[in-house]
Amino acid sequence: MLEEKKCKGINKAHGYESCGKMVKANTRKFGLCPSCFFDWMQTTEGGKIHYQKQFQPKVEKNIENKKKEERKKRTQEKRKQDSSSAMRLADMYFSRYIRLFYADLNGNCTCYTCGKIVPLKELDNGHYQKREHKATRYHLNNCRPQCKTCNGDTKHNGKQDVFRKNLVYEIGEEMVIEIENLAKSTFKTSAVWYREVSNKYRVKLNELQDKLKIKYW
Ligand SMILES: [Zn+2]
Ligand SMILES: [Zn+2]
Repeated sequence: MLEEKKCKGINKAHGYESCGKMVKANTRKFGLCPSCFFDWMQTTEGGKIHYQKQFQPKVEKNIENKKKEERKKRTQEKRKQDSSSAMRLADMYFSRYIRLFYADLNGNCTCYTCGKIVPLKELDNGHYQKREHKATRYHLNNCRPQCKTCNGDTKHNGKQDVFRKNLVYEIGEEMVIEIENLAKSTFKTSAVWYREVSNKYRVKLNELQDKLKIKYW
């Protein structure tokens, strides 16, 4: 059986008007029962100081941790935003480059999967391995001009079967398999990487336009 002691302030709580009841010895703090101890911390100068020293740092630490977490979250969100705006730019320049590269002298492209002839500004840069595969998103062997109907044919994954057949005919099965394997590989993207791609194809696009003496964009 646990020893019981009288609730009576000692040390810092000396002189506090306690309840005087008998309580289990191991529940006492500065000789006080839990209820008196709590009251002591709220009503006396010594108690308030003790409370601040013991509990306030924890509260402050929690607030500090919370702030830290919020800062971290904001940085991550910012990074994500930076990355996706850099990605949009990279997509734009790469798409323009692909379409201009495959355009005829009149500025038309032939859709890679249906053969329709469309002005280069009205068709898409079609991906054989879809864009979610980052390792092949900007791969020259993976992209060809495609009309919006074919590219938007999600039921057939952007006419992927025809895309593959034509790619095999154009660059050979080996290189197509290479693309397929590359697409499956894990690839870490970043805003810096997207910016590099974006800059590369902005320069290449302008060089090509200069060479062709045209200015589409
Ligand atoms: Zn008490
Ligand atoms: Zn088409």
